[in-house]
Amino acid sequence: MESSAPGFDSLGLSQPLLKALCEKGYISPSPIQSQAIPAVIAGRDVMAAAQTGTGKTAGFTLPMLERLTHGARPGRAQIRALVLTPTRELAAQVLDSVRDYSRHLSITSDVVFGGVKINPQIQRLQKGVDVLVATPGRLLDLFQQGALRFDRVEFLVLDEADRMLDMGFIHDIRRVISRLPDRRQTLMFSATFSPPIRKLATGLLDHPVQIQVAPANQTVRSVDQVVHPCDMARKTDLLTHLIRSSDLKQVLVFSRTKHGANRVVERLCQQGLLASAIHGNKSQGARTRALQGFKDGSVRVLVATDIAARGIDIQQLPHVVNLDLPNVPEDYVHRIGRTGRAGETGHAISLVAAEETLLLKAIERLTGESLRRENVPGFEPSILNAPPLDLSGGRGRRRPGQSPKGSSRRRQDSRSTRTYRR
Ligand code: AMP
Repeated sequence: MESSAPGFDSLGLSQPLLKALCEKGYISPSPIQSQAIPAVIAGRDVMAAAQTGTGKTAGFTLPMLERLTHGARPGRAQIRALVLTPTRELAAQVLDSVRDYSRHLSITSDVVFGGVKINPQIQRLQKGVDVLVATPGRLLDLFQQGALRFDRVEFLVLDEADRMLDMGFIHDIRRVISRLPDRRQTLMFSATFSPPIRKLATGLLDHPVQIQVAPANQTVRSVDQVVHPCDMARKTDLLTHLIRSSDLKQVLVFSRTKHGANRVVERLCQQGLLASAIHGNKSQGARTRALQGFKDGSVRVLVATDIAARGIDIQQLPHVVNLDLPNVPEDYVHRIGRTGRAGETGHAISLVAAEETLLLKAIERLTGESLRRENVPGFEPSILNAPPLDLSGGRGRRRPGQSPKGSSRRRQDSRSTRTYRR
């Protein structure tokens, strides 16, 4: 079989996996893959600092599949490898990768997450599954209902562990871990090795191989950032103008609120632009459809809130627009990290009204950079001074610069910031 992907064949992967890689068009392993794959195949625990866009999913999936091919099939309700992710979207994407890479293996895989009916999941799990990708809450529900067993778990992967901590999953994660067999391999992926991540790793990982891919993200370095000052009331019109005048094709728009996201989608659709919203009030089906449409090009503009956008991997996303600046300056860094993947230059546009001056300053303070301002002819702001937005109301809102309670966000993101200043 002349199917080996050059560069991957020295890492210890067998022919069915090399064939799948070749079919995906991967030529050579990314740095995280070259380091993680041999370590995992050798049976080591791994603790890796790597963000989305570095190839981390293949970094843990490929060697895990390699090892799973050698063991016995799972029995009733049993699982052999458990991958925990913070969001439903990321869980679905990881499952897609697992299925892609295992297409020439007789390995079964599935995904479970909340927001959809639990009974079909219970049914599917009955016959056991080799690789189960899950969000922590639903996994525990299923476990408590006796729908699955952890006695055969050989692998535990924590993907985007820092986000899981940020999102308050620590107790669920610890509950899951306490039920797993001691003899297993554990792989932990996180954007950074922040102190809370190190604390979680203690006792969980056994003499892990530590991998840090630096710079964390090529991407962020090649993001062209611009601020277009404008009046609050004209933002949607300016957005439409930018999309039409520059013929932007695949635009991810960030809105601070779910309500705002719905409103802008309505306006864009009225103006003949195909747009869809993705946020926590949407059903899982609606979110999946919106994301799929965005990926296949039938949806031109995807409007997302910060939480919903986490973990979404859309390859080579060319444009990110901040319709509102985020309340938390660190979110700006996450938002613009969505563009310019895999060496492509991305374009991050922020529409900033006078009311958001403080938010903009907080972002510039955090990144140590002054963002380029460019007026768009016809959309110059008429209001130059305005009281800052009141961000105090509403659940979970924070003032600019204020760190989320009990989280390590400020610490961990100072690293991403350094990255994109380079
Ligand atoms: P990840 O960091 O796992 O989210 O992967 C980012 C993107 O890079 C995904 O769309 C992968 O399909 C792609 N990818 C991963 N590894 C490689 C590779 N070795 N060569 C080319 N593309 C890759």
